[in-house]
Amino acid sequence: MRVDRDLHGTLIYGMTESQSSPTPDLGPGLGPPLVAAPADIELDALARDAEAAEFTPARSRIPSAPPSFFGLLPEEVEGALVAAGWPSYRAHQVLDWVYAKRTRDPGAMSNLGKAQREQLGGIVDLALPRIHRQVQSPKGDSVKYALELHDKTRVESVAMLSKRGVTLCVSTQAGCGMACVFCATGTLGLTRNLKADEIVAQVVHMLETTGWEDPGFNIVFMGMGEPLANYAQTLKAINVLRADEGLRVGSRRITLSTCGMVPQMHRLAKEGLQVGLAISLHATTDELRDRLVPINRRYPLRELVRAADFYATHTGRRVTLEYILLAGVNDKKGDAERLADIANALPCKINLIPYNPVPQLPWQRPTDEAIQRFADWLFPRCPAVTLRWSQGGEIAAACGQLGAKA
Ligand code: SAH
Repeated sequence: MRVDRDLHGTLIYGMTESQSSPTPDLGPGLGPPLVAAPADIELDALARDAEAAEFTPARSRIPSAPPSFFGLLPEEVEGALVAAGWPSYRAHQVLDWVYAKRTRDPGAMSNLGKAQREQLGGIVDLALPRIHRQVQSPKGDSVKYALELHDKTRVESVAMLSKRGVTLCVSTQAGCGMACVFCATGTLGLTRNLKADEIVAQVVHMLETTGWEDPGFNIVFMGMGEPLANYAQTLKAINVLRADEGLRVGSRRITLSTCGMVPQMHRLAKEGLQVGLAISLHATTDELRDRLVPINRRYPLRELVRAADFYATHTGRRVTLEYILLAGVNDKKGDAERLADIANALPCKINLIPYNPVPQLPWQRPTDEAIQRFADWLFPRCPAVTLRWSQGGEIAAACGQLGAKA
């Protein structure tokens, strides 16, 4: 079991690096695909805007089931209560209890009348998903939750505590249809899109269960799934989280990561939000990216970079280029040089992510020396480079490990 988040040790899942499986043979050329045969992947399905196939929750077909509170904007909460015959100021009281005072039990909402306290749960559902499993890292700085949704679907979320404060990593889909070959979630396939309430509930859940106090906490849409493939519900969740009478999470505290759904990147740029956008680049040639991140075959690098530039220009926010380092695959000097060229043409920062091994996959993290060497090639040419030593690796809660067995 890996024990330290600085990951300088050689222990990975109880193996020394020299004992772990060999580096995938991608040469000469790139070698055979290791996980998903490219031809097997239905690109139209990958690129499809999931709105077209919007998931209809079973709940909405049951007339008596109230909507989840956590999928409603404040004005929608007000609408639901007014429709039930309540005066509108009551909605402000309820929103204040839930989001400002963190109290979900109607019985404890002391400024409501007795009848209203009894009625509230029948108008809006204030329940959160059940925790199926909760794992805490040895140092207690990461907690991974597997939540069970109303239809028994499970999703994972991770809460992380660091010197910079609290970061909550949420899922937007159960599983993922993007099939990135190095990612644990990618091997699962897509089960379904999450509804906005199921996304917001993960945040509320983690704030409640960790008890960690950080009014400036950050949210990253970097859990399971591709947020831009579930565009409408992800955007709704963002708006619920941002609302003044909600959790008041400013857009700048929210980062959304995409594997490169170009049309949705353009669309998000025009929403008038200042949400941070991270782009899972991972390769600097179409030849390699086509294999690692299959959506590249639909939206190649040139279009991706153009969309990234459009996003940065429209929002006034630098984008982040995420670049996982895979030993022997994308960690050579030429890769660093091409990465610098891409980065220098864009308002961006680079986030290098040493690969977090996934037990059933053959990919490996480069040695610490190789990681440092790669960063050193980049630094003189691109000053805005950070190295992300992922948190939560020891509980299989680090980037790309969600869905893998802890
Ligand atoms: N679908 C979104 C969010 C995915 S998770 C996206 O592709 O961006 C967030 C980041 O973790 C992505 O950059 C993803 O490529 C990366 N990632 C996936 N598997 C990883 C792994 N095993 N180690 C490190 N990063 C990984």
